[in-house]
Amino acid sequence: MKEQKNTIFKTVYQYNQTPISAADMEKLLEIARDCMDVRNYVYDRYGGIRALPKISPGYTVQNEMTKSGLRERLNLPSVYFYLSIFDALGDIKSQWARVKNEIGKNIRANPNLTPEERHYLRFVMKQSQCFEMVLVGGESAPTGKWIRIYESMREGVDAHRLDQYLRRQVRRHLVKPHSEAADGFPASPKGYRYGDHGIYLAMKERGKRLFIPLTDNNRYTRQVYIRLYPEESKLTVNVPVQVRQRHPAGYDGELGLAVGLKCMFVTDRGRAYGERYLEYQSALTDYVREKLPRHRRNMKYNPGTKKYNAGKARLEKAMHDYVNAEINRMLETEKPGTVYLPKLPSAPKAGFSHRINATMNMWQRGYVRSRLIRKCAERSVEVTEVFGKGISNQCSGCGAEGEKKQEMFFCKACGMELSERENTARNVLKRGRGIKEETAPEGKS
Ligand SMILES: [Zn+2]
Repeated sequence: MKEQKNTIFKTVYQYNQTPISAADMEKLLEIARDCMDVRNYVYDRYGGIRALPKISPGYTVQNEMTKSGLRERLNLPSVYFYLSIFDALGDIKSQWARVKNEIGKNIRANPNLTPEERHYLRFVMKQSQCFEMVLVGGESAPTGKWIRIYESMREGVDAHRLDQYLRRQVRRHLVKPHSEAADGFPASPKGYRYGDHGIYLAMKERGKRLFIPLTDNNRYTRQVYIRLYPEESKLTVNVPVQVRQRHPAGYDGELGLAVGLKCMFVTDRGRAYGERYLEYQSALTDYVREKLPRHRRNMKYNPGTKKYNAGKARLEKAMHDYVNAEINRMLETEKPGTVYLPKLPSAPKAGFSHRINATMNMWQRGYVRSRLIRKCAERSVEVTEVFGKGISNQCSGCGAEGEKKQEMFFCKACGMELSERENTARNVLKRGRGIKEETAPEGKS
């Protein structure tokens, strides 16, 4: 199984050391308002359908914005001007991504489209040159090999109607971004300089820099965001820091689980989840055992059939809700990077009382297991199954065979005394680690 390697952005904050004077705050707010104006100008001019061919890679927008004279009118330092343009372009691009995503969903859900039509629409959406041509017209016709592919794609479908469908979808979903937030502005090293236990920020007055003492001496060389809190005479320097994480939500480490009927999971540290599982399971089993025979006798004419089914469904749902809630609680508490669990034994052991056997037969191990695997996948948690034979009889301390009595495990060889389930979970963890070492890249041959 793959390891999840994710790069995420974390924001590091720097704070002003002393309160910012009202006059200085006003100068900073003026820059923030100008940057908002620049963003809204870009949104307005390039956020619509016709501007689609201009937004990637963005040189056209940059050139047109330079010529627009807006920067001179605002008298804004060029560093803030251009960063605001790029910020706005980024917003427009995410807006387009969102629109395409929505349309993709509609295409999938539209029962009136044939597979060929869906194929054509998906192709057009994916190929930016084709997409632009459909939306904006001849100006940006596809070039090179795409002409032939595009032409062949249009054969056999009513391309005219499908293009219209696509245009309608875009018009319905595309919203020009707009901002009323003037609470800060972006800055790059062209606009700031660290020094003297603080940061110097470029101001609108030519050549002037405003000095803000900071509470720390860290220096960064990337684009930051100056966030203003005028009521509190405060600002923060928000620095995006890229961190590599094994898991985006901080899930890490290994977890061995004993899986059971009495309690859904016991971890290798002895923590229990789903301790009331048997109650739910027994309620369902008892209900089926008590109601089913009468109901079966005259299945077709029995008015109780509906009632029986409803009653069974209600108990089943209660159990499933409980299982799901407990798996969530377990994953959110333990935050494992890898979960080990024993492989499902082939059949439940015989030799229990009739009632227990019935419960065992109905034990929804498959359900608990599939939900666990699914929920782990949603959180990018790796799941590895380990060989389960003899796993509860082995001592997790020394490996010798031990004895189980009243839910406790005793090892004569090393003297270990531990709850039976915890001992099993520790063995699961040990066996899981063993598998991992065997399949580690170095050991591959
Ligand atoms: Zn032992």
